[in-house]
Amino acid sequence: MKFQEMDKEEVEAALQTSIERGLSEEEVLVRQKKSGYNELQEGEKQSAILLFFAQFKDFMVLVLLAATLISGLLGEYIDAIAIIAIVIVNGILGFYQERRAERSLQALKSLSAPQVHVKRDGEWIKIPSREVVVGDIMKFSSGDRIGADVRILQTTSLEIEESALTGESVPVAKKSEALKQASDQIGDQENLAFMGTMVSRGSGVGSVISIGMDTAMGKIADLLQSAETMETPLQRRLEQLGKILITTALLLTLLVVVIGVIQGHDIYTMFLAGVSLAVAAIPEGLPAIVTVALSLGVQRMIKQKAIVRKLPAVETLGCASVICSDKTGTLTQNKMTVTHLWSGGKTWTVTGTGYEPSGEFHYEGKPRQALEDKTIQQLLTFGMICNHAELKQGENGYIMDGDPTEGALLVAAMKAGFTRENLASQFTIVKEFPFDSARKMMSMIVKDERGRSFVVAKGAPDVLLGRCDSILWGEKRQFMTDNLQKQVQDAIDGLAAQALRTIAIGFKAVSPNSVILDDSEAEKELTIIGLQGMIDPPRPEVKDAVKECRDAGIKTVMITGDHVTTAKAIASQLGILRKGDLVLDGAALSAMEVEELENVVDKVSVYARVSPEHKLKIVKALQKKGHVVAMTGDGVNDAPAIKSADIGIAMGITGTDVAKEASALVLLDDNFATIKAAIKEGRNIYENIRKFIRYLLASNVGEILVMFFAMLLGLPLPLIPVQILWVNLVTDGLPAMALGLDQPEENVMQRKPRLPNEGVFARGLGWKIISRGFLIGSVTLAAFMIVYKSNPGNLVYAQTVAFATLVLAQLIHVFDCRSEKSIFARNPFGNLYLVGSVISSLLLMLVVIYYKPLQPIFHTVPIRLNEWLLIIGMASIPTFLLAGSFLARKSK
Ligand code: ATP
Repeated sequence: MKFQEMDKEEVEAALQTSIERGLSEEEVLVRQKKSGYNELQEGEKQSAILLFFAQFKDFMVLVLLAATLISGLLGEYIDAIAIIAIVIVNGILGFYQERRAERSLQALKSLSAPQVHVKRDGEWIKIPSREVVVGDIMKFSSGDRIGADVRILQTTSLEIEESALTGESVPVAKKSEALKQASDQIGDQENLAFMGTMVSRGSGVGSVISIGMDTAMGKIADLLQSAETMETPLQRRLEQLGKILITTALLLTLLVVVIGVIQGHDIYTMFLAGVSLAVAAIPEGLPAIVTVALSLGVQRMIKQKAIVRKLPAVETLGCASVICSDKTGTLTQNKMTVTHLWSGGKTWTVTGTGYEPSGEFHYEGKPRQALEDKTIQQLLTFGMICNHAELKQGENGYIMDGDPTEGALLVAAMKAGFTRENLASQFTIVKEFPFDSARKMMSMIVKDERGRSFVVAKGAPDVLLGRCDSILWGEKRQFMTDNLQKQVQDAIDGLAAQALRTIAIGFKAVSPNSVILDDSEAEKELTIIGLQGMIDPPRPEVKDAVKECRDAGIKTVMITGDHVTTAKAIASQLGILRKGDLVLDGAALSAMEVEELENVVDKVSVYARVSPEHKLKIVKALQKKGHVVAMTGDGVNDAPAIKSADIGIAMGITGTDVAKEASALVLLDDNFATIKAAIKEGRNIYENIRKFIRYLLASNVGEILVMFFAMLLGLPLPLIPVQILWVNLVTDGLPAMALGLDQPEENVMQRKPRLPNEGVFARGLGWKIISRGFLIGSVTLAAFMIVYKSNPGNLVYAQTVAFATLVLAQLIHVFDCRSEKSIFARNPFGNLYLVGSVISSLLLMLVVIYYKPLQPIFHTVPIRLNEWLLIIGMASIPTFLLAGSFLARKSK
């Protein structure tokens, strides 16, 4: 018999499990040993050897290898071997860096791996989806992605969207009863939930029937190797830049070779010169260093509790100009405590903090027993019935499992002495219409001991009030009048003005035999019992984070489903709502076209009583105004807005799988301050990339100019190809990496956000590169000419001096690159990686010059003290010239 055709007991027997207790941990280990992990096999990974050889397929490296081959054929073995050795060293560095980058991205993937709820030894726990075994009892609710194939055994308005398997995006209603005859069509399996599909509504519990490659998804897994683009805009731009540089280099090469041949140099020398020039022009190490800088930045973000799911977001973060943040849990702590009760015109207060279920009830300033007042008693018990939260005793106090709003209602009732157990014995739940943030309420149909049926509803007070035709007033039910309605409204406003989140509770009696099919039928003609007001304190670090964002030119906007007055009160406390700012509510937003919203969007800092669909409208309007928008969200309905925002942010704790999958960034701690930290890191990563682009390109420009001017002046080659290669591939690499690890300048969060379409060379970077390259080239050439003149006939000595001058000038220049201002703007020892890498590059240079066995390979000879003084003097000129001009400009 198929699982679809079995009833609950048969399923339990077949899988040797029980819906009440789930599997035991020992049994899970046995099953895991037998059938392995719940994983889909991934496509072939690139092997290490392939990755290593991939380092050599670069166009320039091929040109080099061709040149080497030719010089080998011409009998220049030593040159050929040296070039090959350098290419291999470069390949190893590139391989190592790419491996590292790949590993950290892999680690990212496992951090954002999906989790599922299963019952083990009678307790619900959350585990990574790969640890699920056949027979596990699993629960899932709206927004979850199903982690294995499951035979559904309980449902609450469960609907699942199976487009991942069927392509059909309309959700399918699911049930728990056995099917008479099971077909093989996925679309007909009404009591199965499949791995990879998504719960779009309601919730369910079921038993896992297959895992991993045995699931319906596993059978088509090969089709699913979807590749996400992991290249950032900057990487793409650099790739284009690389192409331009190659073309320019080849043209220059041609020009030089032609001039040289006309001047009477022999063709072989000119060929080598051409290749050296080409090598000089191209920043071979750049793409690898960019990748490494991005991946290291991503790791730093993880330490700050932000997980980047899409690499391009790292760059976009630095451009963010507006952050739209949810209130509950992100700006506030989401630790709700009921402090006020209102019913029949009386306001009670409740003492106690957090989820500790002890506290007193006060009315008119005096302690009272909550049970004295029948309506208050009913307000508390119904708040506990229409509620899924569970309070558990953890090691460090109480832990709330479930929605914190419901947790607060539960604890309030417990303070009055009610327990889940005694209510469960009095009321059984017949049906539930789950909470949904667009409807802003939920309800249950329950039966009491005497067989009477009720609808118990709770929700946002203004919404619930609209669905009531009567009210409990002094223990009596009265029809709603304008006057009574106004009193309730005043009470709602009064609680909201104290920054309290308010929930209203209502009920109605229904006939035990009546069949209520949908929420609109259940949630009408209700009797309102009263209100419960709860505090949700702001997160202490948020106020400063909001201010820091404002200083950085980033506006923070609060978006909440909560009441306007509550939202305003909290937004003012946090410095989000300031004088002159506007507050819009959901109704006003609905009435506006996107164009109308655009006219005011810059002034609005709080959106209250919004539904998730409104978020998309807000994103669109902000983007039309040229903003780069970061938008947070957690629910299924938030996904479209998260997707269309420039930076979609999902909550790691409260977020649904759907929201996480749509997002570019996941906050592990759900905290607004983490967004700020990620933006700061995003800005820093970009600035660091600019730093080493500036360093490497200026160095390349310097190298080209030395060679080019020497040719024009009819001089011999000041540097030979092996030396240029050595500088480009070996001595430059480490300092450039160290720039990628630099700390941000103090003012990173005091500048305006970067424009998203800003080019690589914006903000004066192009000029800095060219002018600095020109200076480095000139001093190298000058040193070469001076030494060549005073030691006629000793070309190798002059070349060695030029080599040392070039290296030293670059290693001094690298310290300039740490600041957009000047070398003196920052402590040169502030980045110890940089100091270390510069020292190691200097040592490498000395080895190449003084270590005898290497001298014939690099065409070097030992340098005397006099020339060292010249080299140091020459190499320092560019920095002092530029620093001098900076000081002169400053003093003006
Ligand atoms: P955010 O600030 O993250 O948008 P929110 O919690 O204010 O969050 P929703 O979760 O959409 O937004 O809630 C909207 C309103 O619905 C709340 O203000 C509250 O009055 C009501 N509400 C929230 N949770 C429940 C619940 N579990 N049952 C009934 N009503 C609820």
